[in-house]
Amino acid sequence: MKIPASPRFEEERRRFGFEFTCEACAHFVPTIEVCGHGFPTDEHRDARYDGVSGAAIVFCKEWELA
Ligand code: SF4
Repeated sequence: MKIPASPRFEEERRRFGFEFTCEACAHFVPTIEVCGHGFPTDEHRDARYDGVSGAAIVFCKEWELA
């Protein structure tokens, strides 16, 4: 699911510690920085959302809490 970036989402995800990126996903293999299911990770990594990027927010339907 893809939603437009918004200051409100950014503020709330930080305030509530909302996790949705690969780094917090059970399927992520951090030692080699890949998805264990073989999915592309570019749109789901922390780096995409750090700072003020204005990038659209892309949720992975396979995300699972690590
Ligand atoms: S399942 Fe989705 S969120 Fe999880 S590591 Fe793979 S691409 Fe990232």
